[in-house]
Order: sequence, then structure tokens, then C-alpha cells
Amino acid sequence: AIENEALMLEMADVVKQSGAQILRGGAYKPRTSPYSFQGLEEEGLHYLAEAKKRTGLCTISEVTSIAAIQAAKGVIDIIQIGARNMQNFELLKAAGKSGIPVLLKRGMSATIDEWLNAAEYIMAEGNENVILCERGIRTFEKYTRNTLDLSVVPIIKERTHLPIIIDPSHATGDWKLVEAMSLAAIAAGADGLIIEVHACPECAWSDGAQSLKPAKFASLIEKGRAIAQVVGRSL
Ligand code: PEP
Ligand code: MN
Repeated sequence: AIENEALMLEMADVVKQSGAQILRGGAYKPRTSPYSFQGLEEEGLHYLAEAKKRTGLCTISEVTSIAAIQAAKGVIDIIQIGARNMQNFELLKAAGKSGIPVLLKRGMSATIDEWLNAAEYIMAEGNENVILCERGIRTFEKYTRNTLDLSVVPIIKERTHLPIIIDPSHATGDWKLVEAMSLAAIAAGADGLIIEVHACPECAWSDGAQSLKPAKFASLIEKGRAIAQVVGRSL
């Protein structure tokens, strides 16, 4: 979540230094509880735009409504449709019509076919810039926040031409598991990772338990580069 401008800019510098190519900051936060922090909304989008000016990083933020898509247009580079909205068909159609590249997360209980049909809703409007993101699915296992379904990587590669990235942060909900799942995702052939980083996870307004400190993120990226090389990719 974007909490304030100074932290946003600091994190942008830090992840850029470690080799990140895209900066994700949540401006509209679809929280499980209505009493949790809901995001800085448009103000947050502008902080992302500032971070881009400063670092050159591409920017991405989740949109939770058609009005948020309009607010994002021309301000950020990619819009995210989150797990909870994967089958919000009016939002998918509006994202398609907007022409803005879309990161489409898999719904927590969505089958691969349902997910691909959601992508189809966006593309049917003429927007073919869709990135798929696996963020873990709900299973009987309660040890982790969700269960990371890494088998989707080769399946998506076989079924589609779309890039597939992995979100080990939301998939596990536990920063201690993020590195292992990131390395496994690279080995499985994922096209990217989306990883939560916070200068002070203990003080984060959302998802602190799954956020990495900057030094841990930097060392993960170094290990990731080594794995990528082994499987004939680069990071
Ligand atoms: C997020 O990316 O911050 C988020 C809310 O993720 P998801 O939609 O995967 O739960
Ligand atoms: Mn989050």
C-alpha cells in the first residue's frame, strides 16, 4: 500500500537499485475488512507518477472501480485487477476499453479456465496487453495464507501467449517463504515476480507479515539471477 510520498520514493529508489523494473504501489486497497486502511486513492497514483519521474520505473496500481481506471489513465503505466475482482465483468470490460496494459490476478477460487476467460473479457475489447499473475489459491491448508499453484506456469505457457508472473507474497502471506517460492517460480519459467517490500514491515499499514526488508529483497534478486541463468533466462 502507498502510505505516503516519502516512503514511496524511498522504496522506489531501493527496488530500482536491486534491479526491479516495475514499481507496484497500492492506491485503491480492496481490504477484507471495511475498517482497514482503504488506500490513498488518486493521491497515491500521483505519488507513483512522481516515483516514475525520479527513477524511470514503470508503474502499476490496482483499480477497484471504473472511476479508478479513469483516474489511472495517463498517470500510471499498468492497472492491476485483483483476485477479488477477477470476475467483475464490467470492470474487465472497462479495463479492456481503456487500452491500458492490465495485470490480471487469478481469483482465489478460480480455475485456470475461468481465469483465462477473464483475460478474454479484456482482450475482446481490443486490449491485448494482459499479464497474468498467480497469487495463490484457497485450499484446505491453513499453514500458509494461500497455496501457491506453480503448475500454472507451464500450463499457461502451453495454453496461451500471455506473460505469467508469480506473487509469492500474497501466495504465502509469510516473508520467510517468499525467497524459496520466488526462486522456484523462476525455475518453473515464470516471466516475472511481484514482491512486497517495505522499509519497516512491522509498521506497514497492510500486509507487513509478507513484506521483505530491502536488504532481503536485494539478496533474493541476486539468487534469482543465478537461477535464471541456469534455466536460460535473464533477470
Ligand atoms: C495486492 O496485490 O495487494 C492484492 C490485494 O492482491 P490480491 O488481489 O492477489 O489479493
Ligand atoms: Mn497486498
